[in-house]
Amino acid sequence: MAVTAATLAGLARPIQYHYDPDFLATFRRVQEKTAQILQTEGDVIILQGEAILGLEAALRSLVTPGMRVLNLVQGIFGKGTGYWLRDFGADVHELEVGYDDAVTPEMVEDYLDGHPGVEMVCLVASETPSGTITDLAKIGPMCRDRGILTYVDTVSGVLGMEHRTDDWGLDLCVTGPQKCLGGAPGLSLISVSQRAWDKIYSNPAAPRDSYLSLLDFKEKWLGDGRFPYTPSVSDINGLEAALDQALAEGIDQVVRRHVDARELTKAGARAMGLEFWARREDSMSACVTSIRLPDDIDNVTVRDLARAKYGVMFSHGQGAGNLIRLSHMGPTAGGLHSVVGLTALGRTLLDLGMKLDVGAGLEAALEVLSVQRA
Ligand SMILES: *Cc1c(COP(=O)(O)O)cnc(C)c1O
Repeated sequence: MAVTAATLAGLARPIQYHYDPDFLATFRRVQEKTAQILQTEGDVIILQGEAILGLEAALRSLVTPGMRVLNLVQGIFGKGTGYWLRDFGADVHELEVGYDDAVTPEMVEDYLDGHPGVEMVCLVASETPSGTITDLAKIGPMCRDRGILTYVDTVSGVLGMEHRTDDWGLDLCVTGPQKCLGGAPGLSLISVSQRAWDKIYSNPAAPRDSYLSLLDFKEKWLGDGRFPYTPSVSDINGLEAALDQALAEGIDQVVRRHVDARELTKAGARAMGLEFWARREDSMSACVTSIRLPDDIDNVTVRDLARAKYGVMFSHGQGAGNLIRLSHMGPTAGGLHSVVGLTALGRTLLDLGMKLDVGAGLEAALEVLSVQRA
C-alpha cells in the first residue's frame, strides 16, 4: 500500500470542529468528488471504517430473509460475500469458478435464464488477492435490464478499471480510498441508487441507530445536515486530497496508467519466463499482476525473502493460491515501480532455484515503457 504526498498533506490539515461551516462544506465537497469518481448522480455515503464496514453495512441493509440472491464467486472476497448472505438469511445461489478463472457474462445470463426470481446479483469487480476481474460492464447492464439489483465490491476496481455506476445501472457499489486512488485506509465510499434505497426502506432488518446504518446517514446527514456520529476529520481531509489529485489527472488517465502498468508488467514477466496466475488473459486486473509459483516454491517464502534481501514488499496469495503479486496500484501504477518489482521478484526466484532470464524480462519491460512514454 502506498499513499501519495497529496494524501499525506491532506491528513496533516488542521483538525476542525466537525460542525464548523468550513468542515461541513469540506464534507459536502468530498461527497461530490467521490460521486464523480464513482460516476454517479445518485447518493454517496461515506462511512467511517475500512471498506469491509461498507460492504457489510450495505449487504445487511439490502438483504431480507429468503431473498433470492445470485453471488458470483471467483476469489476470496466473493466467497466472503456468500458467508454474509447466508448469515443474513438470503436464499443464496452461487456461480463459482476457480480463483484463477472468471465468471463470464454468458454464465450469468444462462444462470438467470434458468433460475427465475433472482432479486439481486452480488459480485466483486476486482478480486485483489488473486488479481482477476469480472466483466462488470456487461453484467451490470444485464442485471439492470432484468430488473435485478446489483451489489458490487469494487474496492480495488474504481480507477483501476472503467467504472460507470449510472451508465451501467449499478445499484450499490463500495470502494475505498486506499487502493487505486492512492489514499489512506479507513473509509468506505458507497454509491446507492434509488432502487437500492427503495429496497432498503422496505427492509425491516436494515440497520438503524447503528454504526452499520446507511439509513442513519441518509436521513440524518443527507436529510438534516446532522452527522450520525463524529466524522473522522483527518480521514476526510486526506480523502479530499487524494480525490483532487485523481480528478486533476483525469479519471480516464488514471485508469490508463494502471492498464499501462499491467501491460509493462505482463511483458516483463512473460519474457522472464514467469507464468501468470490467471487462466484468462482478459481477466487479469490492472492493479496487480499475479504470478503462479511452482509447487515447490511457497508464496510466503518468496514474499519474505524479497523483503529481507532486496527491500521490496510483495503480497502473497492470502489463501487464494500459491501466487505472488506484483502490485501496480495507485501511486505505484506507472513506470519504474514495475521494473523494480520485476527485478526483485526475478532475483528472488533465481535465489530459490527457479530458472529464469531476468535480463530478458527487464529488456522487454523497458521496451514497453519506452513505447508508452513516446
Ligand atoms: C481491499 C479490499 C477490500 C477491503 O478488505 P481488507 O481486507 O480490509 O483490505 C474488500 N474487497 C476487495 C476486493 C479489496 O481489494
